[in-house]
Amino acid sequence: MLQRVNPGNKSLADYRSIVPRDLYDEIQDLANRLDGARVLHVNPTAFGGGVAEILYTLVPLMRDVGLDCDWALMFGAEPFFNVTKNFHNALQGADYELTIEDRAIYEEYNRQSAAALVDSGEEWDIMFVHDPQPALLKHFTDGLSPETKWIWRCHIDTSTPNRQVLDYLSPYVKDYDAQIYTMRDYTPPDVELPGLTIIPPAIDPLSPKNMALAADDARYIANQFGVDTERPFILQVSRFDPWKDPLGVIDAYRIVKEEVPEVQLVLIGSMAHDDPEGWDYWYKTTEHAGGDQDIFLFNNLTNVGAIEVNAFQALADVVIQKSIREGFGLVVAEALWKGRPLVAGRVGGIPMQVTDGGGLLVDTIPEAAAACTKLLKDPEFAYNMGRYGKEHVRKHYLTPRLLRDDLLLFAKLLGV
Ligand code: UDP
Repeated sequence: MLQRVNPGNKSLADYRSIVPRDLYDEIQDLANRLDGARVLHVNPTAFGGGVAEILYTLVPLMRDVGLDCDWALMFGAEPFFNVTKNFHNALQGADYELTIEDRAIYEEYNRQSAAALVDSGEEWDIMFVHDPQPALLKHFTDGLSPETKWIWRCHIDTSTPNRQVLDYLSPYVKDYDAQIYTMRDYTPPDVELPGLTIIPPAIDPLSPKNMALAADDARYIANQFGVDTERPFILQVSRFDPWKDPLGVIDAYRIVKEEVPEVQLVLIGSMAHDDPEGWDYWYKTTEHAGGDQDIFLFNNLTNVGAIEVNAFQALADVVIQKSIREGFGLVVAEALWKGRPLVAGRVGGIPMQVTDGGGLLVDTIPEAAAACTKLLKDPEFAYNMGRYGKEHVRKHYLTPRLLRDDLLLFAKLLGV
């Protein structure tokens, strides 16, 4: 039996005042058509990173609108996560030699997880498989009902992939009834995806991470972590990972500090179970910070969870997301939703979240530093930027829109 995650309860009615009326009605209509549909989401971890973040909202909302929806974790342990982290990096373009041993580890965890699904004797109308880790589940679950529709959801940018990993995974992925990508530009070159569906992710405006926090409460929280909220600070919230470039953020902050000496830098990152590189990169980042008293490094193991992230995001004078590669970049939507001025790498799903006037896109460390300095020195410009960004997120990147898009796909696949 695969471990189930209990994602708690949510009610679509609570979102009524935040999203447009027609979207709300459309969801109700789709939900009626799909009433009682059995949906299982599968991924490897209930903590850390964007997928878990999304499922904690999507699964309860799917239940609330009448689907029989569950979330299961595939089997995983360090050897498997070492391989799948390499796959993840390779699909984003990193060098990697796909060995027979790595394939064997990857296949074994998928085979065992698939066997557990078959042995459970349960049946599903929709099997919703997230990212490369469980991508072989369909292949190994011959015993499941032939009526089950299989969706593979890719959350990463596979447009310039390592060919070995792509060629290995493509036949399995093509075999799914639908392949969801965040944007067309992320799809792999020369791979025909018969069920390609484009659905960008979204953030939950009512989660503890994103709900409205009074400025005083946010300050009260941030002060407890030693950050001086009377002085400006730049914030990046991201896993400690080379693609998120925390070292580059520190370099940019050092340039900013020459012109704005009172500036502080806060780096917050969560340690995900399926990310063995996280600690290495945490130590590298700590070393790079070199004991600077104005640089703060936090993670979930130092008690910085969702509410604390919310508080820091709500207060930051500038939010930076200096990614070199990015999936969608949920943190960007989170910062914009809080009306924060934003400086972000021109990569992945970031540009589509940043409208004209709603953030500054950068390609290099000096550009990032110049953009932060400008925002710190011109509060009116920064304020207006935050307002634009928030409205763009309201229209496009809140959970009800994602729920509608997923339900539309379910209805299409199930012919209801
Ligand atoms: N996150 C968090 N605490 C942290 C670091 C990240 O809660 O210390 C959350 C962050 O707020 C966001 C998600 O993890 O919701 C990261 O998603 P994103 O798409 O930005 O990046 P990914 O990690 O999926 O590459």
